[in-house]
Amino acid sequence: MIQDIQPRRYDNAYTPREKRDTDIVFVFRGREILARTEEDGALAFPKGAEVRQKKLQYLFSIDDQAFFLGTEAVEDYEFVPMRALRCCEPKDLCFAGMTAWHLYNWYDTHRFCGKCGKPMAHHETLRALQCSCGNLVFPVIAPAVIVGVINGDKILVTRYAGREFKGLALVAGFCEIGETAEDTVRREVMEEAGVRVKNIRYFASQPWGFASDLLLGYYAELDGSEEIHIDEAELQSAAWVSRDKLEPVVENRLSLTGTMIETFRLGKENHRIP
Ligand SMILES: [Zn+2]
Repeated sequence: MIQDIQPRRYDNAYTPREKRDTDIVFVFRGREILARTEEDGALAFPKGAEVRQKKLQYLFSIDDQAFFLGTEAVEDYEFVPMRALRCCEPKDLCFAGMTAWHLYNWYDTHRFCGKCGKPMAHHETLRALQCSCGNLVFPVIAPAVIVGVINGDKILVTRYAGREFKGLALVAGFCEIGETAEDTVRREVMEEAGVRVKNIRYFASQPWGFASDLLLGYYAELDGSEEIHIDEAELQSAAWVSRDKLEPVVENRLSLTGTMIETFRLGKENHRIP
């Protein structure tokens, strides 16, 4: 999945420092990111040595390389759509760009105090924004569930209505206030597909900064009627697909959804991954 960048190690301790020449500076504009395509086709981002902007926001590190958020354009780079990030190699750059985007989005939407309206300031030692009125704000992470509903040798797969992603999906949705993740699983499966589930079991989680989410993956068994009633506002289709009819997942290798469909196809859904 996107966060699996071993042997490199992601370090999210908030330890701001000055940029070095080999560090990377991400600059976003709307849903675009500053980048350039190298001769070998790889996507490259501005290096510390190429960036003139003095004041940069420290984000996190991967091994000895730090990542920063900049706001100014850099010579020889241009803004490209964010989706270019999803296919960039090596994968740790894809993960770093996604997580930087999550933080950029949070900083960008929390410039003023929600309590008194004054401008927020960066906390010196915490990844937090603070106001002189005492309001302290931490990054917003939205928990959501992804559910593989299993009916014997079949799994419930869906296709979204009106979204850019046209591939196979699983039932998914945000946790609502006051709900456990398991409540969300039961509610979303009923809302999207009109069926009940039992024996809900946790599989794995995934940070998904493209949408400021933390995704929690569960498998669950169908409980009762297998007749599907889809939520047409949300889904284009939903169907039971047997294990041997599923195509191997190759394109969607970064996502928890792709991993869960592939895990089911291989008959390994009872093996929890860390
Ligand atoms: Zn305030």
